[in-house]
Amino acid sequence: MILPIIAYGDPVLRKVADDIDKDYPKLNELIANMWDTMYNASGVGLAAPQIGLPIRIFLVDSTPFSGDEDLTPEEQKQLDGFKRVFINATMEEETGEEWAFNEGCLSIPDVREDVRRKETIKISYLDENFKEHVETYSGLLARVIQHEYDHIEGVLFTDKLSSLKRRMIKGRLANISKGKISVEYRMKFPSLKKGR
Ligand SMILES: [Zn+2]
Repeated sequence: MILPIIAYGDPVLRKVADDIDKDYPKLNELIANMWDTMYNASGVGLAAPQIGLPIRIFLVDSTPFSGDEDLTPEEQKQLDGFKRVFINATMEEETGEEWAFNEGCLSIPDVREDVRRKETIKISYLDENFKEHVETYSGLLARVIQHEYDHIEGVLFTDKLSSLKRRMIKGRLANISKGKISVEYRMKFPSLKKGR
């Protein structure tokens, strides 16, 4: 089931999300709905706060990036078919040089800006079967995970821009909060009572 995506300005996007346990009600259904919602919006990641739940779950399917011709064949292969659920994740380490990549966010449609992040991450998390993993990722895959991880910490990519850039996009962000945008997928705007 496709759920409305929460737009910029909603306080749920600003909460540090809580861990869940195995007994979380209808977890499998929730994860299935999050996949449906992400694919419907052509996203490569989606975090639970973006569907209104302040809990530590996010999904990543980096396959759409695998066709990027700027990448090495190894990177393309790594991104192709990488599909994972991250539950109760903790960022253990971020290392290496910072590099810039043009990011967007399903909660902030039509805004894309270069964001600087470190190259390599080490992250611990549970998968959908509550099996523990500790993994290291680099490059674009690390980038997607860093963006989604930020969501469960209440952080948005726009927070990482210079104050000048933030001033420049302030009006556009305000319009998104008010629902004054055209978007191809269902969203819920903080200033409107109903979804659309
Ligand atoms: Zn996002």
